[in-house]
Amino acid sequence: MSERKATIPRSRMTFRERQFRSRLAQMIDQRGLLRGSLLVRRRVCGKPKCRCARGQGHESLYLVVSQGGRSRQLFVPKDWEETVRRWVGDYHKARGLLEEISRLYWEKVRTRQG
Ligand SMILES: [Zn+2]
Repeated sequence: MSERKATIPRSRMTFRERQFRSRLAQMIDQRGLLRGSLLVRRRVCGKPKCRCARGQGHESLYLVVSQGGRSRQLFVPKDWEETVRRWVGDYHKARGLLEEISRLYWEKVRTRQG
């Protein structure tokens, strides 16, 4: 039985795998990555003449993250919303790429070709 190496040289990777890895590397290098989900909450500010008192409420964005089994929430200020949405989205994309790579390795073990 030959011993298998954990390190795989790039030359032995398929084009698909190299593509997933380059995209993932780029995200890890250059993007903000934030795990969590975004929740829009409506609240009433309490000022009697405010439009929120007539039903609609003010919309606020919260970031919800589970850390160590606890769910934590963080208010996202308006001027952070766009950036936070992007970081959360990029985290999902990076996770997706990691998952694609993992599937390739699952197949290697399953087909005993690696
Ligand atoms: Zn209000």
